[in-house]
Amino acid sequence: MNTAFSWIRPEPWGVHVVPADVWIDPGRAVDRALITHGHADHARGGHGATIATPETLAIMELRYNTRKGATPVQYGETIRLPGGVDATFVPAGHVLGSAQILLEHAGERVVITGDYKRRADPTCALFEVTPCDIFITEATFGLPVFSHPPIEDEMAKLLTALHAHPDGCVLVGAYALGKAQRVIAELRAAGHSQPIFLHGAMEKMCRLYQDHGVDLGELRLVSDHDNETMRGQIVIAPPSALNDRWSRRLPSPVTAMASGWMRVRGRARQRGVELPLVISDHADWNELTQTIEDVNPQEVWVTHGREEALLRWCELGQRRARALALVGREDEDE
Ligand SMILES: [Zn+2]
Ligand SMILES: [Zn+2]
Repeated sequence: MNTAFSWIRPEPWGVHVVPADVWIDPGRAVDRALITHGHADHARGGHGATIATPETLAIMELRYNTRKGATPVQYGETIRLPGGVDATFVPAGHVLGSAQILLEHAGERVVITGDYKRRADPTCALFEVTPCDIFITEATFGLPVFSHPPIEDEMAKLLTALHAHPDGCVLVGAYALGKAQRVIAELRAAGHSQPIFLHGAMEKMCRLYQDHGVDLGELRLVSDHDNETMRGQIVIAPPSALNDRWSRRLPSPVTAMASGWMRVRGRARQRGVELPLVISDHADWNELTQTIEDVNPQEVWVTHGREEALLRWCELGQRRARALALVGREDEDE
């Protein structure tokens, strides 16, 4: 009889750490939650106690107004939970404050990645490989067809379009948490020093990033300026604003969108995107498989949709793998 790892139990709405009675990224309110990062498919309000990095707690406070029962844990710090379970938060490289959670109990190690990527991102700490027995990985882009281009190439496309339309603006759709700030920081890294204009829905999260030391340069609100000021400039807005009334006031915008899904032509067409930018905060196929090799776990548990190809890949490599049917994991962040 094998009782190994019976202390960690995947349920449809979260992963339950039984001896500690804590949940990882639970989809409903619980007494005690450990949260990997601030996206809505992982973080929600209403928990009795919330344990997360200080940045994730700040994001949750901004989005859900939750402050009650917040316990900050720094990267690399280990906290002792009830029932003899140790939890350590390790950088996941996904968005500001994002963490993998390493759980240790009775000599066994489980890592829950939350969402992650391996590439350098000026807005958050780089993913760290953490050896473990069970590796619970996302698979948002878990098909070999997904291979994200270098971000420098996508920035070059964006700046080329900007310079080709000096009388208009380039309107970039990007999610308000993570993608928007990364696009801005990468534009700065590419030498774009002009002010960047924001839709009002972006303002608070950008300020939160700046308060945590991420340099985004000069940001201005679209609503504070007239049309003329935005000619030859970059405007960032949530994807939902790309084709709505709000965008009609902009001076002849070229519509762009920053998302890993822009690899799929139909998705760009659906949204009326003229300039698709393939920019993702998730691991692509090569990053997913490389990471499993680097971490080298006995067993892989896969979440977030497209699991089949990754399960097959594990099988071919003589690695045990299973899909977790977690509900409500969506691409809010992509
Ligand atoms: Zn996420
Ligand atoms: Zn997610």
